[in-house]
Amino acid sequence: MKLVFATNNQHKLRELQQILGNSIQLLSLTDIGCTDEVPENQETLEGNATEKAFYIYNKFGYNCFADDTGLEIEALNGAPGVYSARYAGPEKLASDNMARVLREMEEINSRKARFRTVISLVIDGHEKQFEGIVDGEILREARGTAGFGYDPIFRPDRFAESFAEMDAEAKNKISHRGRAVEKLVDYLKSFS
Ligand code: IMP
Repeated sequence: MKLVFATNNQHKLRELQQILGNSIQLLSLTDIGCTDEVPENQETLEGNATEKAFYIYNKFGYNCFADDTGLEIEALNGAPGVYSARYAGPEKLASDNMARVLREMEEINSRKARFRTVISLVIDGHEKQFEGIVDGEILREARGTAGFGYDPIFRPDRFAESFAEMDAEAKNKISHRGRAVEKLVDYLKSFS
């Protein structure tokens, strides 16, 4: 079976192909000749994942999956959430995004937060969604240099390190994306 992962992130693609083995061939957007800016105009992670996956399925005819992730901070009523990438503006700068979160959290002692990933899989026009969550807290200042996005200011529960102080393998084992992907892979394996 051929399956498009609606991403051009080669790292994400290679990692998943390894987990899946030979029975499913993953294709990137580049592989199918898609140079479009895939739309994500919805107000929820679920909505965006669905929109992206069906865009590819409808326009290119491939079975497909797409993911969308957000950092949800309880004291900020779930913000930045679906706006995580562009929280501090359209430049999508991680340093500015983190600075905005730290500023907004300055006076707040309740630091509870979580990362949430939603994956939408569309096979023959039928959709199935998978969710992965990691609970944690927002630190008072950035710590560590690994990873990307909000990793330096997020500490997962039951760990002393921020995500940016963990190596990739340790993070992937417990991360939102890792957990959502695990559910997707279990489901896909039942096809092969
Ligand atoms: P995307 O849906 O994977 O593109 O994620 C949207 C935004 O959420 C990214 O631009 C990052 O700001 C943030 N984000 C997603 N995953 C992570 C992560 O694992 N660590 C830190 N930030 C993340």
